[in-house]
Amino acid sequence: MARLHPTGSHAERQERLSVLLAHQHVWSEGRAATEEELLLCHTAEHVEVVRAVEETVWLDPDTICTPTTFEAAVLAAGTAIERALRGGFALVGPRGHHALADRAMGFCVFNNVAIAARAGQQRVGLERVAIVDFDVHHGNGTDAIFREDDSVLFVSLHQWPFYPGSGGPDDQAETTVNVPLAAGSGDAEYLDAFDRVVGPAVQRFDPELLLVSAGFDAAAGDPLGGMRVSEDGFRELARRCAGLSDRVAAVLEGGYNLEALPGLVDAALDGFTA
Ligand code: ZN
Repeated sequence: MARLHPTGSHAERQERLSVLLAHQHVWSEGRAATEEELLLCHTAEHVEVVRAVEETVWLDPDTICTPTTFEAAVLAAGTAIERALRGGFALVGPRGHHALADRAMGFCVFNNVAIAARAGQQRVGLERVAIVDFDVHHGNGTDAIFREDDSVLFVSLHQWPFYPGSGGPDDQAETTVNVPLAAGSGDAEYLDAFDRVVGPAVQRFDPELLLVSAGFDAAAGDPLGGMRVSEDGFRELARRCAGLSDRVAAVLEGGYNLEALPGLVDAALDGFTA
């Protein structure tokens, strides 16, 4: 996926996936999503725009698209689906949670976690799927895709005010829970918000599958985020997520400190499997 979606010196660097691949010794290959699976969340027009790219273009001010990005993006989505069905952590790119039904946004081409949620519902007949998103940015794409769908609960912890601007204290709906946190928040603030709001909301919803949009850009020292979450913090967030459903899977979102990323992912894997 990194080779198919070269991003140059952009923050969404292909080395993000290479360092994880070099570090993880237990892994299996993903697969491409089918067109039918992409259409569970995206318009045919958006799918066609990405597929038809013949020379590198920007789909929005942040989102580069090369002639092979489509191939990478369908691998990312298909791999997220497989993890949703079988458990595990989809270490994929390009990432997904800002992608809207009809367009790419904020480094995200197709909304991997959203497609995985709908595929889980369709393939296994699950009625209720919850998505917990702890990327430092609000998962506005996932929020928008499921805003009117009460079979999917979306809960997001994120820095606010911050990119993309949505997800503030008044931005809530019946099955949409946005938890904005002040810049500079660390383990204590995240775990407190999880225990007060995220955990109880997911428990009330009682999902048959919990998907985690696992971004690591809320980590201390991340070049894009402004938070201070530690490895222990991510371990605890993951452990709490794993306790909320019998069936849990994660999909990689952000996290841009290449030195720190493998350790942060390890800590989360540790928490998910504890
Ligand atoms: Zn992010």
